[in-house]
Amino acid sequence: MSGGMIAVLALVAIGFGAWAFRRWRNHLLMQHRAQYLLDELPMMPEPLAKGRILLSEEKLKIRHGERRIYGRVDQIFSYRGLAYPLETKTRKRAQVYLSDRIQLSAQARMLREDRGFRVANVGYVRFVTPKSPVVYKQVDLLPDDELNRLFDRRHAILSGEIPPQVPTNLAVCHSCTHQHRCDKGRKRVRD
Ligand code: SF4
Repeated sequence: MSGGMIAVLALVAIGFGAWAFRRWRNHLLMQHRAQYLLDELPMMPEPLAKGRILLSEEKLKIRHGERRIYGRVDQIFSYRGLAYPLETKTRKRAQVYLSDRIQLSAQARMLREDRGFRVANVGYVRFVTPKSPVVYKQVDLLPDDELNRLFDRRHAILSGEIPPQVPTNLAVCHSCTHQHRCDKGRKRVRD
């Protein structure tokens, strides 16, 4: 067998191996998800309890003007022709913050624009807290014009045009992915 043929066969074998590994990993992931979903069925709101999972742990994107915004969804459920985003949060208390609403609203828009789904005007947060059973809370999603205003503001903060407004809840700074470039946030977390 020629060297070229061996190289081609090796590439095919590597490609097949990677495909099989992804399938195996996704299968395990869905099994794990399915188990917790079954356990929590009595606590779930109707669209999640009676719906089916459309997507799990997927990256999505949208365009906003010249910019692309990327996001990752935990789970998306489909119920009666509509898609519902679900985010899991591990917190001390089952409290919904504005940042949750923004995150779910951006995900809903990504589902519409990136995947062409019809999306509900609500999403859900699944709270895992230390002292009580899992809680699901419904969140009203933001309209597109409000989301656009927030995207513009985010861009202006990241490009240094305007300073970030420090949130009242310190936990938001603690878990903020922009903390490394935010003097105010870093100082607040340190103090
Ligand atoms: S670290 Fe900075 S950017 Fe992040 S939430 Fe706190 S103030 Fe806002």
